[in-house]
Amino acid sequence: MSRGGTMPEIDHTHDAAAPSWVASANDAGTEFPIQNLPLGVFETERGTGARIGVAIGDQVLDLAAALDRGLLPGLQGMAPALRADSLNALMARGAADRHRLRHTVFGLLEAGHSRSAETSGCLVPMALVRMQLPARIGDFTDFFTSIHHARRTGELSRPDMPLLPNFRHLPIAYHGRASSVVVSGGPCMRPRGQALGMSGDTRYVPTQKLDFELEVGCYVGPGNALGETIPLDQAEDHVFGLSLVNDWSARDIQRWEAQPLGPFLAKSFTTSVSPWVVTLEALAPFRTAPRRPPGDDAPLSATLTSTSHARHGAIEIALQALLQTGQMSRDGLAPTPIAQPRFGDQYWTLFQMLTHHASNGCNLRSGDLISSGTVSGPERADSGCLLELTAGGREPLRLPSGEERRFLEDGDTVVLRGVCRRDGFRTIGFGECRAQVAPANQE
Ligand code: CA
Repeated sequence: MSRGGTMPEIDHTHDAAAPSWVASANDAGTEFPIQNLPLGVFETERGTGARIGVAIGDQVLDLAAALDRGLLPGLQGMAPALRADSLNALMARGAADRHRLRHTVFGLLEAGHSRSAETSGCLVPMALVRMQLPARIGDFTDFFTSIHHARRTGELSRPDMPLLPNFRHLPIAYHGRASSVVVSGGPCMRPRGQALGMSGDTRYVPTQKLDFELEVGCYVGPGNALGETIPLDQAEDHVFGLSLVNDWSARDIQRWEAQPLGPFLAKSFTTSVSPWVVTLEALAPFRTAPRRPPGDDAPLSATLTSTSHARHGAIEIALQALLQTGQMSRDGLAPTPIAQPRFGDQYWTLFQMLTHHASNGCNLRSGDLISSGTVSGPERADSGCLLELTAGGREPLRLPSGEERRFLEDGDTVVLRGVCRRDGFRTIGFGECRAQVAPANQE
């Protein structure tokens, strides 16, 4: 069990051979086998309101319905949190309760369970639910933790010093806007903003340089009190689980407004998140040593270093960004992969981000969203944003439809995906973070 900052153990809930009586959970291609069990909040057409669910194959297990039928023995103590319309109360309860919930739900959905017929009445087809934001997000903080992203974007604006001197000392971040975080499926409306024209004039216009950013975010579990810090070896205790994040960015607005205080309106218009939260317990088999560039083995800050973190502080996720233009959609062409970075390549881990965030006594609260910043691989082709993929728009992407893209156009759909694979374990996935670019509002 996860206690005192140790990482979750690998146990029978990770056994690759364990089948579920939910047939679709045993499909080789599913992202939601019984070894995953991510949590989310859904609504149905029946108007039952927002409810907490667990993804299993192509179904959603309604936890409140399962509680009503007495199918979750031993979880009565956390019933109010499981019957809530967001995950915040469950997030606040911490790793021991999350562990108990995982084991109980695993047992209920495992092949051979005596009450599977009754439980099937608590399943709703995923195709019939409308996913909601998993939590009421009080605060959203976005980091900048890929050294490859930092260097390549830095080269565009500061060729003489792409990587600023602080990058290797601390995880850089800005405070984002929680109110405009939306769940996958909703549109991203092209924002208007002030940008600098070629002749030095400024105009308030729809952004001409709309970009996506492929990121991994974590939801804070139990928070810390104002004034308390979070030692690195206890950071695990404050993470509930992970989702995919698309931090939409308007590069022309950003370039003009961001000096000297950093991102503001270029980022706060919309941030999309995937609806399912994959717990730290589900991710236990995919922990790994942080991969750092040669000669750059240990963080320069002692508070951001520990022996156990150096062993398994990172989480390996194979990420993918896909793009489908409106033309591709009309021609029946599927979204095409445009980048495939790996989360294990981040210079700073989620745990180091939490520790650094609280290092001045700043209180993190259950349900806060802490995101990694753009995840980009060592090669430019595996960059998690168009700014890098197209070298600032100079080298357009060529798409299967024959079209080119420097930045996003109206009608373009961006899909983010992430899966965890390791020999001997079932592959688990995050599901999609998908959104289509909508035209700017008419003035
Ligand atoms: Ca970002």
